[in-house]
Amino acid sequence: MRSAVVVGAGIGGLAVAGALARTGWQVTLLERADRLRADTAALLIWPDGVRALRALGLADGLRAVASPAPSTGIRRPNGQWLVQPDLANGSETGEDAESLVVHREDLHDTLVAGLGDRIDIRTGVAVRSVRLARDAPPAVSDSRATWEADLIVAADGVDSIVRRRLAPESTAVAAGSAAWRAVIPWFRAPSLPDLDSPGSPGLVGAAGTSLGGETLGAGHRFRYALLGERGATGTSSRRGVYWAATVPGAYRPEPPLTQLSLLRRWFADWHSPIGELFAATEPGDLIQHPVAELRPIPRSFSFRAGQGGYILLGDAAHAMSHHLSHGACLALEDAAALQSLLRDATPGRSLGTAIDAYTRERRPRLARIVRQSRRVGAMFAANGSLAGRARDAALGLSPGLLGRVLRGSRTH
Ligand SMILES: Cc1cc2nc3c(=O)[nH]c(=O)nc-3n(C[C@H](O)[C@H](O)[C@H](O)COP(=O)(O)OP(=O)(O)OC[C@H]3O[C@@H](n4cnc5c(N)ncnc54)[C@H](O)[C@@H]3O)c2cc1C
Repeated sequence: MRSAVVVGAGIGGLAVAGALARTGWQVTLLERADRLRADTAALLIWPDGVRALRALGLADGLRAVASPAPSTGIRRPNGQWLVQPDLANGSETGEDAESLVVHREDLHDTLVAGLGDRIDIRTGVAVRSVRLARDAPPAVSDSRATWEADLIVAADGVDSIVRRRLAPESTAVAAGSAAWRAVIPWFRAPSLPDLDSPGSPGLVGAAGTSLGGETLGAGHRFRYALLGERGATGTSSRRGVYWAATVPGAYRPEPPLTQLSLLRRWFADWHSPIGELFAATEPGDLIQHPVAELRPIPRSFSFRAGQGGYILLGDAAHAMSHHLSHGACLALEDAAALQSLLRDATPGRSLGTAIDAYTRERRPRLARIVRQSRRVGAMFAANGSLAGRARDAALGLSPGLLGRVLRGSRTH
């Protein structure tokens, strides 16, 4: 039987482990944490991510737990529209334009359910070394054991040990911003006319989208989205208002209470309901993320060894700053691509060919998206009135393009 080891049980690792198991591979999943778990934030799943989940056979599971994503319109801190949602969304409609927002724990549960019961899951295993010999089967080890297989998929995130060994030309660097996320459960969410009456001015989503959206200031950025409807799910902490805030600078080491005070100060005077959402956030809701990206991305995501080889997937292959909010969608796309390439591959020539084809298929699109992410990041980070005005003018001139980039449309 064809064998695979997947290193890392994040979104990418779970998605690819399930995909391989469902197509007849014997899979071992190695995760350094003591159990499989997700953090308590949410994720936007753009049309490319929904398409990938459909290819993986998991889209219905996602839809059961997700909500429509907010429009891709953008506002100024005073609430004026910089890009109207209908312009940003362009003319794309139907299933192929579906964007969703989902609590990470719900997406995680959907992916874990997709693993089935044949996968050997080992938690508490931190891979430390990688065997790199073209004639020997691929293998990884922690301090106690070694796992050998026809195929090893590295899905161990931006600081990937496996990538460091296979593609040392690529380094994880700080992306120059700090990001926070939180989900305020409905029972604590502020009672605001804006949130409770969908017809209120300034917050109406385009057709098929929910309330929420994106606001850009001088280098600062705030986004929020609704997870489910108030009252629909009692006291579930997976339902409520999700927000994400980005500010220029480095990771903040202060305790959460101080971080929250800073956020309230930085976003003071921004349009409603931003202040109300910060007021309703408790320090324990806050999750701060170090924002890192790979520079450059690896020359190849495929490495032959023995009768098969190694594959880099998700953030391990192409971590980028979160400005396009796309990393998870792209990890899902990687998993769907690999599922299709490996379906009939057997150890030896056909597996080697499939491993090589993965880089040819994935890398050009990913390199393009990484470049777009840097451009959008520089545009969003515009600090100072002149740069901010130039950015606002550029957004006003090409609103449809920005919407397509954010939604990961195939046309860009
Ligand atoms: C603020 C912010 C907002 C974002 N919003 C969005 C969004 O809305 N939509 C979207 O699509 N993307 C978004 N992203 C990006 C997304 O979160 C990531 O791209 C995605 O989670 C990457 O998944 P992954 O499985 O590749 O890596 P990870 O999630 O990093 O998973 C790696 C796994 O490998 C394990 N691991 C690491 N090292 C080892 C080792 N040596 N041995 C064994 N296991 C190991 C880790 O414990 C972890 O479980 C956002 C990112 C940030 C920072």
